[in-house]
Amino acid sequence: MIKPLEELYRLIGQQINGSPREKGIFICWIGQPIYWVIFLGCAAGLTLSVFIEGVYNPLLWAGLAWGLIASLMWLAIALFGSSTPMSESGETRFANFTILLFGLSGIVSLLLVGPFNLVTGIVLTGCVLIGLLLFPAPQITLVFACSMAAILAYAIAVSLDSTLYRPLLSPVDYRPAQVWYDMMTIMAAGLIIIKDSFTVAALTSTWRHREASTFDRSIRDPLTGVVNRGHLLQTLNQQLSLPVRNRKSLAVVLMDVDHFKQINDRYGHAIGDQALIHVAETLQDNLRDNDLLGRYGGEEFLMLLPGATLSQAQNVAERCAEALRRNTMPIAGSPAIKLTASFGVSSTGEASAIDAHTLIEEADRAMYTAKHQGRDRVVTYSRPQ
Ligand code: GH3
Ligand code: MG
Ligand code: MG
Repeated sequence: MIKPLEELYRLIGQQINGSPREKGIFICWIGQPIYWVIFLGCAAGLTLSVFIEGVYNPLLWAGLAWGLIASLMWLAIALFGSSTPMSESGETRFANFTILLFGLSGIVSLLLVGPFNLVTGIVLTGCVLIGLLLFPAPQITLVFACSMAAILAYAIAVSLDSTLYRPLLSPVDYRPAQVWYDMMTIMAAGLIIIKDSFTVAALTSTWRHREASTFDRSIRDPLTGVVNRGHLLQTLNQQLSLPVRNRKSLAVVLMDVDHFKQINDRYGHAIGDQALIHVAETLQDNLRDNDLLGRYGGEEFLMLLPGATLSQAQNVAERCAEALRRNTMPIAGSPAIKLTASFGVSSTGEASAIDAHTLIEEADRAMYTAKHQGRDRVVTYSRPQ
């Protein structure tokens, strides 16, 4: 995409996170092009009617004036919204006012352009889509219902012959003019489709980004960046719930940093936090892509090793223990901190129905055995046969 378009795409996308006031101002800006299309369309129509004798349509002047007035009106409201300080409830009132006015000014346009045609349908669809992306559904539904009621009332008045139906884009008897009007209809519809698709794409792509980053934050531990306990348990439960015939061995390794309290006491909590990040990085560097490392509690980490048998998981844990031993943590002004941990390993092995809770409890028991045996070691859990 070329640069200014990319910038516009980003700018429009940001509106999804905007305050009610920002969204109200945005409505003013997306209203503008519609009225410029009406203005330019009528200006071109007037110019052409000078050359095509006999098809002069006086409504073109009304269309020209309305296009100009409405564009300037939206510009004025946008400037008012940008420059006037508002309270929180003032912002909501401003946003509601813009949505309502958008609907009302739309109806005036429909009366001029003719409510029963392609462009009208496209404008209505676009307004509802964009409106629902930005505002609560009840507000948009109310404005939509009012617009539909006005169109219905107009249709009834026309069918009872009490009102004229001679809008700008309705067919006229003269063939070259007919072609001109048809072309204008398609052009206007095309422009509005492009504008609305661009807007909807920009808004939804920012929305998807926001959803993805919110989800990511919800499963991660903010300090170390590895996944949190909730996500670990959910993943483990999912893997254990696979049908038995599709299930491979699965191992868990629970590890707890040794004498971590002393690190906090001696160096302070901030260095303690750094040490946890250091541990998480060291462990992560020693796992495969398929394995999942998460923070299970304060200074406890849990690793899920899909496909690993007990002895394979034991090797992984030994590798991690050795990496921790070797990879001391440098700090300013003191010798590097030596960190060690105790590891407990358990695996589903051939056991067909073992639940997440039991598997972790087994690893926890093995880990406590490692603590009792003097720390800085790996202990595997042997399930009684
Ligand atoms: P052991 O070898 O028996 O595991 O000894 P320990 O000192 O590691 O055990 P204990 O469970 O008594 O201490 C854990 C400490 O971890 C206590 C707590 O203050 C600290 N801790 C837990 N979460 C955090 C954290 O997010 N940041 C920091 N800095 N410390 C934490
Ligand atoms: Mg602990
Ligand atoms: Mg500990």
